[in-house]
Amino acid sequence: MYKTDLLARVPLFQELDPGDLEKIASVLRSETYASEHEIVRIGDVGHSLYVVMEGNVAVVYPSRSADVELARLGPGEFFGEMAILNSKPRSATVKALDEVTVLVLDKEDFTRIVMETPELALHVMSALSVRIRNSDEQISGLSERSLRDGLTGLLNRRSFHDRLAEECDRARRYGDAFALVIMDIDHFKKINDTFGHDVGDTVLSWVGRLLLEHSRGADIPFRIGGEEFAVICPETGVTQAAAASRRLIEVVSEARPPTTFPMNITMSAGFAVCPVHGKRGDQVFQAADQALLSAKRDGRNRVAAAPTG
Ligand code: GH3
Ligand code: MG
Ligand code: MG
Repeated sequence: MYKTDLLARVPLFQELDPGDLEKIASVLRSETYASEHEIVRIGDVGHSLYVVMEGNVAVVYPSRSADVELARLGPGEFFGEMAILNSKPRSATVKALDEVTVLVLDKEDFTRIVMETPELALHVMSALSVRIRNSDEQISGLSERSLRDGLTGLLNRRSFHDRLAEECDRARRYGDAFALVIMDIDHFKKINDTFGHDVGDTVLSWVGRLLLEHSRGADIPFRIGGEEFAVICPETGVTQAAAASRRLIEVVSEARPPTTFPMNITMSAGFAVCPVHGKRGDQVFQAADQALLSAKRDGRNRVAAAPTG
């Protein structure tokens, strides 16, 4: 029989009555595995729950190119519960990272003890809820990262196209107009060429911050390309869009970037309004882009509206 005082130190079995601990200790067996041994293998039918007592294991998802390590578990932590709770094949492989000693609790014993010891069921549930929360955080972190641009923290080009399509849908259904402003930094290549790429990056993240700070509450700024930015302004018509665009490029031309070398940064902007200049996302985008080109042609540091009709 396994020693109950050792068992009492395992978080899964903490605060259980000595009688319950004895019951568990009487059915547990201890196994030791050499480093690299696959204790459970993905796809296998699971019959046991494992508690790590010594050493460390890696939970890995084997893939053709390289294994993806999902987690590392050390003394006191357990694995294998999923497959015995839902009778599905193992969802990952668990490998010993060094010499590992585990306690093995077979499914029938586990089920019986859980039925007799509600505290154990609570411990299992609470450990599972921590795992679910951690993986939720990982997933939402990943999806958040894929929507944002790493340099400025603004939403990226992909988010922009999604949002533009959504706004067009809304405009079609509810008849709400919205404006799209596209902005491009003037002669940005010269900044990179004169002061270096790092200074260029500092300017880009500073512009991103200004756009975020100076957009109205409902407006959404994006970085849609190298030195190209966009702002989607819900419920905005032509007059308001012109004013909003002018305000944004004025803010940039009047502020000073946080760089060692003094420099004047200006931007050009073009805007279009849905449904005035187009009903589909690509039409609105093209109209605003045309306007931006004409602002560049007319001398930069200015705003142009998309041509109507
Ligand atoms: P224009 O007034 O016509 O817009 O001139 P421009 O020099 O800004 O235009 P161009 O498109 O020729 O240059 C854009 C430059 O932006 C070229 C590219 O090297 C630079 N760039 C794009 N992405 C980044 C970035 O992430 N960091 C830095 N530092 N530079 C970037
Ligand atoms: Mg450009
Ligand atoms: Mg440019």
